[in-house]
Order: sequence, then C-alpha cells, then structure tokens
Amino acid sequence: MKRIGVLCSGGDAPGMNANVRAVVRAALERGITPYGIDRGYAGFLAGALRPLTSRDVSGIVNLGGTFLRTARCREFHEPAGRTQAAAVLRQHQIDGLVVCGGDGSFTGAQLLHREHGVAVVGTPGTIDNDLAGTDHTIGFDTAVQTAVEACDRIRDTAHSHDRVFVVEVMGRHAGFIALEVAVAAGAEVALLPEHPAHDTAWCCQQIALMQQRGKTSMLVVVAEGVGRGEQVAAAIDAQVPGTSARATVLGHVLRGGSPSSDDRVLASLTGADAVAALCEGATCHHCGVIAGRLVRTPLEEVVGVKKPLNPATVALLGTLAT
Ligand code: ADP
Repeated sequence: MKRIGVLCSGGDAPGMNANVRAVVRAALERGITPYGIDRGYAGFLAGALRPLTSRDVSGIVNLGGTFLRTARCREFHEPAGRTQAAAVLRQHQIDGLVVCGGDGSFTGAQLLHREHGVAVVGTPGTIDNDLAGTDHTIGFDTAVQTAVEACDRIRDTAHSHDRVFVVEVMGRHAGFIALEVAVAAGAEVALLPEHPAHDTAWCCQQIALMQQRGKTSMLVVVAEGVGRGEQVAAAIDAQVPGTSARATVLGHVLRGGSPSSDDRVLASLTGADAVAALCEGATCHHCGVIAGRLVRTPLEEVVGVKKPLNPATVALLGTLAT
C-alpha cells in the first residue's frame, strides 16, 4: 500500500475533519501518501484530488464541517460514474480508499469494490447514528448536545408562558437523535420513526394526560421522519383544550459547530484504524467502536442493516415523563 485516498460523502457531520486528519497522519506514519478527494464522489468526476501533508490537516481537529467538503453525487449511482472513479484511482496509483459517510456512501463504496476491486474502508460519518457496526457515529454526540442546549433554552420560555413546545430534530429514518435529546432534555413526549403507533393523536392524549396531572409547560421532540413539528403543534392546539403550542425546527443547526471530545476521539480512532485495516488487507470493511473497542465489520453487514434503538432508553422516557 503506497497511496490511499480519503473523502467525505453525504451529509456533513462534526468530527469529519478529525477523521480525515487521523487518516492522513496514520498514513504518513506508515510511509503511505494520503490523497484528499474533494466533495465526495463528485471529486472523482472533477479530478479534484491531491496529496495531503501533515500540515494540510493542522488546526482542524476542533473544526466542524469538513475541509475536503462533502457532496451528494448522482453520477456515482450509475456504473459509468464508478468506472470513472476507478480509472482516476488507477491513474494516481491509489490502492485503497477511506470513505467517511453514511449508509448511502457505503453503498457506493461497496459497489466500487465489487465492480472494480478497489479496497474500500468506511468510517461512520453521520450525525444520525443509524449505522450498524458502531455504537455511535461521528457527529452524533455533538448534534445531540447542540439540540439539548436549544431545548434547555426553549424550556425556559415554555415554562414562562405555560406553553407546549414541539422541537423538530433531524432524523428522516432513525430516531436516535430524537430519543437521546428527549431523555437528556427531559421531554414529555418523543415521536420516533421506529414507533409509528406513537403518532400525533397519541401525542395529544399524552399532553392532555400530563395537563391533568398539573403540568403547565411541556416539551415534545419530533424526529423529522415522523412529520413536521408545525403540524404536531397545530394538532395539540386543536385537540387539547387549554394548551398553547409552538414549534421550533432545529434542522441544519445540528450539523454545525465544534465537535465534542467524544466525537473527536471516535473520529481519530476510526480514521487511524481505517488505514491500519487497509494495510492489513481489508478490502470492503467498516471501522467502528463497539463497547469501547475498535471493531472492523464487512461492509455488507453494515449497509442496509437497521440498527435498533435501545429499548431501555425508550422505556426510560415513559418512566420519566410523568
Ligand atoms: P449518506 O452517506 O450520508 O447516507 P447519501 O445517501 O446522500 O448520504 O449518499 C451519499 C452519496 O453516496 C450519494 O450522493 C452517491 O454519490 C453515493 N450513493 C448513495 N447511494 C448509492 C447507491 N445506491 N449506489 C451508488 N452510490 C450511492
């Protein structure tokens, strides 16, 4: 292994910079030249790649976003796009590729391996935490912390005005962020894609129940995959007499900001291990951390595999919201 490529793909996540930094420095330590590829898979089509030095990744461990930029690349869904990517890698004599991204990015990486024999290793770069093969993904901890800080502020105004506040957080297909935020912020209700029976009508019943128990202000956390916070707030207003509900959408604010120490450490561990994995002959793997230990999993056991929410945390929410 003489040269490896590294790219960030899909939605950005705080900690991606720390991940690329670790890939670059772990590669240099082994005498491998790391190549940074700009804007995810789109970088191949634009021929936008360059060798990175240790100084290129100086001073970025604490920065959100990704200095390599990230992108969604439609062409990579087509075999021709992947053929071009493989040709660019061959042209630059790059033997292996580290992809920091989520399930979609790993699907593309897996195809690049199957069709062109490129050695690929994925690192878990998504705020959603919806990847099997790791307890947490890079950016999840920071996103939860950002949302909890916002919820704490919202609770202040909810309390002052005796209001119900509905906070919509990111999570189209997974409720990891919503669940963690709900527990940490002391929310009364969480609406999660994994629990469709807990819908808006159920939420209104819960709000009415807690109102009867003497609660005057309440917090509802909604994962965006369940529905719009505005609609949930309107339903509460309409269906629960005596309430005044408002909605706040946290949206992309959760993607930004300086990564937490947990995210920086996870990103650094998995980035360095991705290089080690390539050197040790990994061909199509994912590097994650499970129960505090680095774990390499074949990508086919990660891509498309649904990671369940922790049932104990879901149950705890019900216990605490009384
Ligand atoms: P994430 O990696 O965060 O899940 P996306 O699903 O948007 O983000 O995927 C990022 C990129 O990965 C896409 O823009 C595309 O270039 C590539 N990709 C996603 N799904 C596929 C697929 N089924 N086949 C090939 N490439 C894919």
